[in-house]
Amino acid sequence: MQETNSVTKRTSVNGKTKMLGVIGNPIEHSVSPQLHNTLSITLQKNTMYVPFRVMRENLATAVNGLYALGFLGFNVTIPYKENVMEYIDEISKEAKLIGAVNTVKIHKEKFYGFNTDADGFAKSFTGETGEKFAGKKVVILGAGGAARAIAIKIALEDAGRICIVNRTKSKAKALVEVINKNVGGKAEFFGMSESEELMKQSDIIINTTSVGMYPNIESCPVSENFKFASWQIVYDVVYNPSKTKLINLAQSCGCKTVNGLGMLYYQGIYAWQIWMDCKIKEDVLDKVYKMFVKDVYGNLNYTIRAR
Ligand code: NAP
Repeated sequence: MQETNSVTKRTSVNGKTKMLGVIGNPIEHSVSPQLHNTLSITLQKNTMYVPFRVMRENLATAVNGLYALGFLGFNVTIPYKENVMEYIDEISKEAKLIGAVNTVKIHKEKFYGFNTDADGFAKSFTGETGEKFAGKKVVILGAGGAARAIAIKIALEDAGRICIVNRTKSKAKALVEVINKNVGGKAEFFGMSESEELMKQSDIIINTTSVGMYPNIESCPVSENFKFASWQIVYDVVYNPSKTKLINLAQSCGCKTVNGLGMLYYQGIYAWQIWMDCKIKEDVLDKVYKMFVKDVYGNLNYTIRAR
């Protein structure tokens, strides 16, 4: 990852600049400012996107402050994606189902809440693998916030079987209950000890745990002796490092692999489109994507496209 403590470019600010931002804690690791400020420059919009570290006891004051200061909208990241919902006037159907809001639009004195993680994941998965979820057998490792958005999206897109595998089995059970009650009875829950047998029977394996994420880059959510089949697709939501142990293992077995940078990118793109009420053209998306990858990984040779 690039050192994010340096600033190489900045949009100019004047009396008409409109503000955007992200609230969370910690926030220093966020790469969303790079993405959204690159979008401002590329699309020639007079906006500025700023990260804000907010303490839990100040969440209401911060949210009301963004309104008072005339922000167009803001992103919400860990640990406030659930808590922020109590301040939102209207929450999208998908965000309600996921139980988390990561994007807020402020319009005519009202807060509108969305979850763009799910769409970001789906766009990245389909764009990078050319595959869809309908009828597929999917194993999801993890049952936290990322798993929730991904599992509900996959269920809505008609996957054949969804196995949620988590260290804390009760969390996997709770997620399965939400899916089966609201989307249809296609999800099942399991403990980690059952993961290998389930993975062998699956088309798609998605890691949504933080295992393997920097600085614990030697960790892997799957035994290093596990052999994937070459036709399986392995998606890791972790994007730092760009190649986790899991991605390396899957590539050594000949699998298509995708890391989480595309999900991160597209959740930001969808948020921007909500704030600006626009649709960004594909050629612009490709151009901004290349700049984003360079910003995050420091070189243009790295690609998130699946092999
Ligand atoms: P979260 O809600 O805290 O969930 C963490 C998940 O990881 C839980 O299922 C947890 O299991 C599991 N886990 C953590 N340590 C583990 C270990 N040592 N062994 C086994 N399981 C372990 O976090 P989150 O928001 O879902 O984020 C998870 C990961 O996704 C992070 O790396 C985050 O950076 C990444 N992420 C990426 C994107 C993207 O756009 N690419 C978006 C969101 C998140 P328990 O329930 O048993 O604790």
